[in-house]
Amino acid sequence: MPLRKVARDILQLRMPLDAGIDHNNVYLIREDAGWCVFDTGIDSPAVRNIWTTAFSGSLKDGISRIVVSHHHPDHLGLAAWLQETKDAPVYIRPEELAAARTAGLPDPSEEAMFREYFGRNGMSAKDIDWLIDDFMRSFFACAIPRETRTLESGKRFLIGRYAFEILIQGGHSVAQVALHDPSAGILLSGDQMLERITPNVGLWPYGDTDPLVNYFRSLDEFESRDIRFVLPGHDDVYRTDGRRPEMLRAHHRGMLSKFLGRIRGKMTGFELSEAVFGKQLGIDNRVLALLETLAHLQWLHRKREVVRHDDLHTSRYERVVR
Ligand SMILES: [Zn+2]
Repeated sequence: MPLRKVARDILQLRMPLDAGIDHNNVYLIREDAGWCVFDTGIDSPAVRNIWTTAFSGSLKDGISRIVVSHHHPDHLGLAAWLQETKDAPVYIRPEELAAARTAGLPDPSEEAMFREYFGRNGMSAKDIDWLIDDFMRSFFACAIPRETRTLESGKRFLIGRYAFEILIQGGHSVAQVALHDPSAGILLSGDQMLERITPNVGLWPYGDTDPLVNYFRSLDEFESRDIRFVLPGHDDVYRTDGRRPEMLRAHHRGMLSKFLGRIRGKMTGFELSEAVFGKQLGIDNRVLALLETLAHLQWLHRKREVVRHDDLHTSRYERVVR
């Protein structure tokens, strides 16, 4: 059982994942009524099996509440199933719930929006078909919990011995929830602040309309808080001296100058993503590279470092020469 104690009254469950990264973390916080779950794992037979085994062993006291940090499938994936099997309330932001519905592309207008957006930014028709059928509808879409409760930014959220404060942050997703207990110095960060890798900050055709600005804002928020121990969505828990936000900021500043430096003439987002990240063999990497490129291009466009030329079907970016 991939279950271990990571802090007083907090257990970590490591769930298998097949998405470029081979696992994600779920946390369980002890409270009187049972265990409060933070994130749920992707909906796969292996992950359901881990939950079922845990319920007959260490987690036999059951689940009191379910908190979902954001709508990506490794976090929201099994929330509806856990709610059905354990009859526990699900806490998630309404923006994340809306994003989860859109991500499943339930009707033709959403599919058309995806086709237009990715086509306009230079992705091939074949890649777009894959994105829609195999990525969004088969991998990214999650079952939606039948009933949910919201979480308000800045409010306290008490779980057992912990008095968490709720942070709502854009950038990686539209309104990701992180929980911070200032006196314990503990942060449940979701994907927002990982130790070794940088979370994907991408401009999607839905969700956060200003991801890089919002991501920087969340880094400011982390910096202003007393965070000593991070329980992240991926990789190990880690101690921190407070310098991680500036490292992440520096990474994106570096990427901004890299994108700007690689623009030759007029380029689509896709062409620029290949110029910076190289040709990606995996289609999922091509998608993520393009989304990350578009988030940075949006920033450069706002700063008037680049201009955008739109014709009926294609957007191209050109560096402003001063
Ligand atoms: Zn995520």
